[in-house]
Amino acid sequence: MSKEPKCKKCRRAGVKLFLKGTRCTGPKCAMVKKNYPPGEKGKRRSKTSEYGKELNEKQKLRNWYNLREKQFKNYVIEAMKRQGGEEGSGDILIKNLENRLDNTVYRLGLAESRPKAKQLVGHGLIFVNGRKIDIPSYSLEEGDVISVNPNKIDSQLFENLTEKLKDQDIPSWLFFDRKKLEGKVTGEPVPEEVEPPVRMTSIFEFYSR
Ligand code: SF4
Repeated sequence: MSKEPKCKKCRRAGVKLFLKGTRCTGPKCAMVKKNYPPGEKGKRRSKTSEYGKELNEKQKLRNWYNLREKQFKNYVIEAMKRQGGEEGSGDILIKNLENRLDNTVYRLGLAESRPKAKQLVGHGLIFVNGRKIDIPSYSLEEGDVISVNPNKIDSQLFENLTEKLKDQDIPSWLFFDRKKLEGKVTGEPVPEEVEPPVRMTSIFEFYSR
């Protein structure tokens, strides 16, 4: 993962990427205080080339899902290969990214950001169908059940979880039982519901050069 601080990624992208949990929705968000690219205080966003715009769009989506370049590129190439029939490559890409275990842990509200969700999975705090899965990229399928490792439920990382979960919006393809702290994949991700802050076509144009 790039060592660039999370807030700088948002400032460079020009949109909130929600990488820091509750801070992202408060007044301390860097996009509220410094809504200009890093190192360009007082300057307006300059005109960029077509290549620069495509690069910016793909960086936005890559950072939104908190992925390394190689991982992200593999998802894009896979979507381009599988394109056909009724489904476009953009929808395939979003579905595959949304089905990642770390993303689903974030969507269920078990972590306040995707970077935190990746940490939870990597540290073995999450179970899938009753067994520990510590691979953040693990691809979930309909019917899979996601739960908190019962031996780790007292971890500091789950502090005030019940309270935090009260306001969580669960996407239509997931179900969450707040009492059991257990989620279930009930269908396929719905790309229209995801609304990533990017122009999807630019991403495919970038990797087709
Ligand atoms: Fe981005 Fe969150 Fe930092 Fe705001 S607080 S700039 S949304 S990572």
